[in-house]
Amino acid sequence: MTYYDREDQFLRQRLQKEIPILTALIKNLYGELDKKFHLNGAKVPVTFGFDTDSLGSYTRRSAHEKEHFHFSLLFIAYGVKNPLPKEDRIDLFKHEYAHYMQYNMQIPEQYKWQTGTHGSAWKYCCSLVGAAPTPYYKAGEALMNHDYDKVLKNRIHDKSVPIRDTYRRLQTAQKQKDEVVQYKLGDTVTHPKFGNGVVEKINQRSGGVHLHIRFDGEVKCIDQKWLSRKKYT
Ligand SMILES: [Zn+2]
Repeated sequence: MTYYDREDQFLRQRLQKEIPILTALIKNLYGELDKKFHLNGAKVPVTFGFDTDSLGSYTRRSAHEKEHFHFSLLFIAYGVKNPLPKEDRIDLFKHEYAHYMQYNMQIPEQYKWQTGTHGSAWKYCCSLVGAAPTPYYKAGEALMNHDYDKVLKNRIHDKSVPIRDTYRRLQTAQKQKDEVVQYKLGDTVTHPKFGNGVVEKINQRSGGVHLHIRFDGEVKCIDQKWLSRKKYT
């Protein structure tokens, strides 16, 4: 269960009211681009959430997921404390549309040399729609003149501001890592405060592993990330 305080709840309710306006804005933009490139991006469902670590994403259809665009209201809504400048909001929409394009249109051979979600195919699509050809969000970037020719030939080395969909993938990887059970029943563990204990029960949870540990006669439930293995200390 997630706990939100009242103020946060009110903010979320207020931001949710922007969904129809934002959806119209996105569909309108994608509709224009569709006409230009003979695609159907405006027909792809758009979902919204309150992600704190990702501005937007495009998900391809797979065995486990439906194709969709997803945007965080905490970034793209107008009613947040620090709303995105208009140009950056549009640039984010184009950034995700470029992801849609890279998997839904013919990419010329000369733009296939660099693999990856933000590889040369995606950069080529960015050049077509006028999106900033960088995977990382930086305020004001949408207003810059981009040298597409240069970025299409060179790799982007700047990895200092990982925010957009890239950051989300890093987070997912970390979350999956945290969910790997590192202990077995009967293991002796050391907790910085409670000292040595023995693992009696293991519960795998989303984002972590909870262990029931007996310390000196008392059982406590602790996430494995707070422990260090006795044998390593
Ligand atoms: Zn991206």
